[in-house]
Amino acid sequence: MARILILGAGFGGLELATELSEKLGDGHEVTVIDKGDAFVFGYSKLDLMFGKRTLEQVRLPYADFVKPGVRVLRETVTAIDPEAKRVTADAGEHEADYLVIALGADYDPAATPGLAEVDSEFYSVAGAQKLSEVIPTFSAGRALIGVCGAPFKCPPAPSECALLLDDELRRRGVRDACEIAFVIPFGAPVPPSPETSAALRNEFEQRGIELITGRRIASLDPGRNVAVLDDGSEQPYDLFLGVPKHRAPDVVIESGITEDGFVPVDPSTLATEVPGVYAVGDCATAGVPKAGVFAEGAARIVAQHLLAAVAGGGDPARYLGQGTCYIEFGEGRIGSVDIDFLSGPERTGIFNPPSAEQMALKEKFGADRRARWFGR
Ligand SMILES: Cc1cc2nc3c(=O)[nH]c(=O)nc-3n(C[C@H](O)[C@H](O)[C@H](O)COP(=O)(O)OP(=O)(O)OC[C@H]3O[C@@H](n4cnc5c(N)ncnc54)[C@H](O)[C@@H]3O)c2cc1C
Repeated sequence: MARILILGAGFGGLELATELSEKLGDGHEVTVIDKGDAFVFGYSKLDLMFGKRTLEQVRLPYADFVKPGVRVLRETVTAIDPEAKRVTADAGEHEADYLVIALGADYDPAATPGLAEVDSEFYSVAGAQKLSEVIPTFSAGRALIGVCGAPFKCPPAPSECALLLDDELRRRGVRDACEIAFVIPFGAPVPPSPETSAALRNEFEQRGIELITGRRIASLDPGRNVAVLDDGSEQPYDLFLGVPKHRAPDVVIESGITEDGFVPVDPSTLATEVPGVYAVGDCATAGVPKAGVFAEGAARIVAQHLLAAVAGGGDPARYLGQGTCYIEFGEGRIGSVDIDFLSGPERTGIFNPPSAEQMALKEKFGADRRARWFGR
């Protein structure tokens, strides 16, 4: 009986455990460890932030993740020994034959002086919830949405934030008293898809949203309400909405298998340099954007490798880095971009303009995963 240990029950860990349960049943020991008690879709943070949903409405408790052959433990991982495949958690030690690190990306506010003091990021559940109380009080002045470093999760999310803020200010009849500016380190809102970027730029122009590309927030001076960009220029703000610099969680960095803050993996297999140890999702560098849809695609490939190893499954497929990211265009409109990063010589991103069909597909994306993972 093989012991498979999955660290993290996010997009990657949930999909991997589901695949293994479906294919292996209870013939092997699959353990998932997560410090939290519930999963929240990344995009639900925008719903929380703009008061469209409550935390209770978007939480999916792990108690509902019930799969044959899979144990879910609520523990915090405090040390990982990849070579020994031994993991220390606050409730004890775990040993495995195969180890999959799916601990996501953490935020590094200390990398941006002043950010912790301003304390207004929208990339965590707590941050989005806090901002849901701040945004309704913002009725005049300059809102600055700022990304503090790349890579960052879900590259379209800051654009979505700008458009949803514009909606919110118009709804309250205060848009004329407000400015919205938006700083991203990329040269375009969605670099692999010129069409998607053009559609977003067009939307920003029509709504009077100022877009500053190719720059990141280097520091904040809360005393003067000014953000300093990486070229030394300054952007004033009355409301700052930030995306902190990302990196793998400390426990992953301390395990010694990261480079530049993330775990390098073979993009085709998601294998790390340590035999029997894989990394999927936001904690890994697999040559794909950091988004749930890529984490779960990677998890399906790792499942094939594990099945081949423990149950003699067929040849595992190569990871192709494909996925669809849905994009809120505001006013209830949803479009998407079909990304393909690894199957051909060029990265591609095909734009699907906002439509009722795209809205239904995004709804289905959430509903399918709620049903598959949580039986809802
Ligand atoms: C505003 C916003 C909008 C987004 N929109 C989309 C979207 O529309 N589509 C999309 O595909 N993606 C979207 N994303 C990105 C998506 O949420 C992430 O890319 C995805 O969750 C990554 O999956 P993962 O499995 O790598 O990590 P995660 O889902 O982050 O899971 C990691 C898990 O590890 C656990 N963990 C971490 N450290 C420890 C520890 N020490 N001990 C135990 N457990 C630990 C965490 O509790 C967590 O449950 C969005 C993100 C944001 C912030």
